[in-house]
Amino acid sequence: MPEVLTGVPLAPWTTLRLGGPARTMVEASTEAELVETVRAADAAGEPVLVLAGGSNVVIADAGWGGLVVRVGTTGLRREPAGEGRERLTVAAGEPWDAVVAGAVADGLAGIECLSGIPGSTGATPIQNVGAYGQEVASTIASVRVLDRRTGEVAELAPEACGFAYRSSAFKHASRHVVLAVTFELERSDRSGPLRYGELARALGAEPGSGAPLSEVREAVLALRRGKGMVLDAGDHDTWSAGSFFTNPVLDAAAFAALEAQAGAAPPRFPEADGRVKTSAAWLIERAGFSKGDARGPVALSSKHALALTNRGGATAEQLVGFAREIAGQVERRLGVALVPEPVLVGLPWRPDPK
Ligand SMILES: Cc1cc2nc3c(=O)[nH]c(=O)nc-3n(C[C@H](O)[C@H](O)[C@H](O)COP(=O)(O)OP(=O)(O)OC[C@H]3O[C@@H](n4cnc5c(N)ncnc54)[C@H](O)[C@@H]3O)c2cc1C
Repeated sequence: MPEVLTGVPLAPWTTLRLGGPARTMVEASTEAELVETVRAADAAGEPVLVLAGGSNVVIADAGWGGLVVRVGTTGLRREPAGEGRERLTVAAGEPWDAVVAGAVADGLAGIECLSGIPGSTGATPIQNVGAYGQEVASTIASVRVLDRRTGEVAELAPEACGFAYRSSAFKHASRHVVLAVTFELERSDRSGPLRYGELARALGAEPGSGAPLSEVREAVLALRRGKGMVLDAGDHDTWSAGSFFTNPVLDAAAFAALEAQAGAAPPRFPEADGRVKTSAAWLIERAGFSKGDARGPVALSSKHALALTNRGGATAEQLVGFAREIAGQVERRLGVALVPEPVLVGLPWRPDPK
C-alpha cells in the first residue's frame, strides 16, 4: 500500500494555490491502490476527498479533516471500434491535454476543441468538460468506476452518467471514484463541424464546416492563452479554477426579463430544449464589475471576467467572499442566480445579500 502522509498542505496541489492541510494524504499510482485505499477508508468511516489535478476545486483554509486520495494512475489502451472508429481507454490520472494532443497527432477526431483544459482524464466526466463547441459526453463510450455504495468496480454506460451542461451524476456526489474513461473517436485528420463562431472565425472556416485537427488544436490553444485559460505558473491570470460560474441557461420568460432588466440584448445561445444559454461573463460586467477588479489579493482575471484569480497570498475565504459579492450583485441588478462551476470543499455557497 502507498505511504500515508500527514498534515500535507493542499494549496500546492490546486491551480488556485488555496486550501489548508489534509489530515492524511495518499498518492494512488495504480488502479488497485486507488480502489483499495478508498475501500479501506470507507470501511473505517474516514471522509475521503478525491483530488487529481486540483484545477476545479476551491478547498477551505481549514483543509480536509480526513483522507485525500491523489489520483496518480497511468495507462492508455487503444483498440479498433468498427468502421473508421477507435476506442481509447485512459486511466483516470493521465493528464487530459496529453490525451488530446495524442489523439490529434494520431488523426483521431472528437476532442480537439478540448485542447488546453488542465487536469486529469478521470475528472473530465465529473463536470462533462466542454469548450469551443465540444464536450466529453459526446465521445465517452463508458466510465469505469468504483461504486463506494457497493464497494464494487463497475463499467457505466453514458446513459448512467447523467451528463448535462458542466454537470453529471458524479458532480457534487461522492458515490463513484472514476478509475478510467473510454472514449470513442473517429479516424479522421479533420474535425467535425465547428460549432463555435469565434473558433470558426479564427480558422477562417464557415461555422458548421471542419478544419484539420492540428489547426483546430493550435487555434483553440491560442484563443485560450489570450483569455488566461492555459496554465502558466508565471501568469497570475491563470491561478484560477477556469470559469468560476457556469453560463446560466434560462427559459424564454426569464431571458425576456433579463433583457428588460439589463437594458441591452444579452448574448444568446439557443439550446436544443428551447431554452437559451447566456454569458456569465457578460452578466458580471453588466452588473458593474470589470476585468482586473480586485479585493485584496483576489481579482477577476485581467483577461476574462469569468475567472477569479489568486494574485498570491490569498485565502479561500477571500476568494469565495468576492465570488459571493459578484453573485449577489448580479442577482440584485439582473435577477439571475449565478452557480459556481468549481467544487467548493468545506466552503458553503450563498450569494452576498447586501
Ligand atoms: C485555467 C483553467 C481553464 C479551465 N478551462 C476549462 C474548460 O475550458 N472547460 C471545462 O469544462 N473546465 C475547465 N477548467 C476546469 C478543470 O480544468 C476541469 O474541470 C478538469 O476536468 C478538472 O480536472 P482535475 O483533475 O484538475 O480535477 P480536480 O480539480 O482534482 O477535481 C475536481 C472534482 O472532481 C473530483 N474528481 C477528480 N478526479 C476524480 C476521480 N477520478 N473520481 C471521482 N472524482 C474525481 C474531485 O473530487 C473534485 O470534486 C479549467 C480550469 C483552469 C484552471
